[in-house]
Amino acid sequence: MKKGLMLNAINPKISGILIRGEKGTAKSTAVRAIAALLPEIEVVADCLYGCDPEDITTMCMNCRQRLAKGETLPRLRRKMRVVDLPVSATEDRVVGTLDIEQAIKKGEKRFEPGVLAQANRGILYVDEVNLLDDHIVDVLLDSAAMGVNTVEREGVSFTHPANFILVGTMNPEEGELRPQLLDRFGFSVNITGILDPKLRVEVVKRRSAFEEDPEGFADRWETAQDELRQQIIAAKALLTKVQISDDILFLIASIAIEMGVDGHRADLIMMKASKTMAAFNGREEATEEDVRQAVDLTLLHRMRRKPFQEQVIDSQKLQDVMAGAKHRHACAHTHPHVHSHTHSHT
Ligand SMILES: [Zn+2]
Repeated sequence: MKKGLMLNAINPKISGILIRGEKGTAKSTAVRAIAALLPEIEVVADCLYGCDPEDITTMCMNCRQRLAKGETLPRLRRKMRVVDLPVSATEDRVVGTLDIEQAIKKGEKRFEPGVLAQANRGILYVDEVNLLDDHIVDVLLDSAAMGVNTVEREGVSFTHPANFILVGTMNPEEGELRPQLLDRFGFSVNITGILDPKLRVEVVKRRSAFEEDPEGFADRWETAQDELRQQIIAAKALLTKVQISDDILFLIASIAIEMGVDGHRADLIMMKASKTMAAFNGREEATEEDVRQAVDLTLLHRMRRKPFQEQVIDSQKLQDVMAGAKHRHACAHTHPHVHSHTHSHT
């Protein structure tokens, strides 16, 4: 869970994480804690959507018009945001509202932004995502796929950028997620309670230390916290330089085929996750070990479901696939073969 959240903080293109687990396993705590570790981004200071001043392709209409008029957009550095989407939220609250009277009388569009506007370029956090209203889920899926939110009322429409990392938590005992929504999450993890008595005692001790003295507790952990923050910032800077060889890409493809996943999204996410893992470890080349770490986070919710079976990754099978892919490539190397490196799609 922690690794998955950190990799998303470094590389938003991993596109989120679904955290499944029983009650009381600190799922929400972990998501809220990641906020303190998130890197800063540069935004247009007075834009409601926090547009990127360097990227006109993702800007809102207003920012584009200002640029076209020759205006210099004011800039500001701020943290990426974690925005809550309450399960009880109405559609208006999520997508925002369009003042239709204003539009008809004066011909100007007045838009009251919703949660999706706030979440642009940040994290959209849905606790108990499996309990979301079907209609809201559809809205989320549309925005997540397009990177924009479109509000339509009586023939008037308004569009703004809505690029967000979707982070959801759920207790599977309370119902499953629709497969379309499941596939939108780059990663998924299953969280269970810890069974080692020593670690359970440590959990209790830390929790009570925090309750007795929250500030003192935070102070004691600040050094460790800051080290992690610096590691994430360094990884973010290194990420664009990380390369991935064709050997590793073939390994990823073999894993996706042999482990029985649908579509190609698993390959893409494994590639991005492997590169991000390399960057997190300060390396400029993704390795087999990075792939192994990526597999755990990427495949769990994408493997074809067998009826009445718990979804688990068969580690022996994975090991065999990885060994097999390596062997095939060792043979391929004895023949003339062009190996190229790619650095796109970070
Ligand atoms: Zn803007």
